Amino acid sequence: MASHQRRTILHVDMDAFFAAVEQLRRPELRGKPVVVGGDGNPHKRGVVSTASYEARAYGIHSAMPLRTAYKRCPHAVFLPVDFAAYGESARKIREILREYSSLIETFAADEAFLDVSHRPEDPLALAEEIRRRIKEETGLTASIGIGPNKLLAKIACGLRKPDAVTEITTGTVVEQLRDLPATVLWGVGPKTAARLEASLGVRTVGDLQSLSLEALQEELGPRHGEYLYHTCRGEDDTPIITEWEPKSLSRETTYQFDARRRETILKTISELAADVTGELREEGYSGRTITVKIRYRDFKTHTRGLTLADPTDDEATIRQTAVSLLDRFTMDRPIRLVGVRVSGLISLRRC
Ligand SMILES: [Mg+2]
Repeated sequence: MASHQRRTILHVDMDAFFAAVEQLRRPELRGKPVVVGGDGNPHKRGVVSTASYEARAYGIHSAMPLRTAYKRCPHAVFLPVDFAAYGESARKIREILREYSSLIETFAADEAFLDVSHRPEDPLALAEEIRRRIKEETGLTASIGIGPNKLLAKIACGLRKPDAVTEITTGTVVEQLRDLPATVLWGVGPKTAARLEASLGVRTVGDLQSLSLEALQEELGPRHGEYLYHTCRGEDDTPIITEWEPKSLSRETTYQFDARRRETILKTISELAADVTGELREEGYSGRTITVKIRYRDFKTHTRGLTLADPTDDEATIRQTAVSLLDRFTMDRPIRLVGVRVSGLISLRRC
């Protein structure tokens, strides 16, 4: 699509998705701090996947170690990640979105871009309708951002959460971005942000807007500098990528205490193979290459893989292949982590 054409992009983001699904199916958890992550035991290794809004009030956020989350809120309800349950809701949501556009880019389980440029409705009314339908048909809340491109739709979505629709238009973009931290922009990670603040005093998007193209290029190099010069003005023409497919599906687990016994490792590989096959089937894929990963106590990580003659989603085949690969590792040191990956995926459910 040519960038001069007017586009309307929606960014749909489910609110505290994993935690919301848990609170939906277990009403006794509603209104309580809920933390989903690892195997649900906050005294073990593992990180937070999603914290409910009640848990966020205690300063708990995604990617935080579960033990830290427990220190911040010992009375929170800690739950294991249940991919099958969240996948079910994610599929329902995708079905609703598909009714509004075939130009959908999904990433993660709970976020999608939707190009609705072709729709006759007012974008705000359309986004409100989608938000209402998601709520009525899944019981879950979503926040939706509207913008003339992906960047602004995503930023708009982050401005008001949960359960809200927010629009950024070409006319209001400079003003709406001005006071936001520079890190809302793509291409400004923590490292770049620290560098921009130290050398140019930049903290907000507005600070970036006041810099010349040359100043940005001198600091960050020609490409990155030019990119930021445009994004801080809300200019972005990245396309919606509809054909996205995962290259692989994998599961891994870190032992609480490093493992030495072959039987223990074999049992783990079997369980991970069963989990990954479950997800494969859930998502409608078959895979050809099975790979086992082992990380030793000294953090050295080795992988061994085998490619089958035909793609499969058969649990016994995947499990037996994964288990047989263990023979190709040296078992001379304690093992910290085991992973199983299936790659070379083909979709059985293309629509
Ligand atoms: Mg979300």
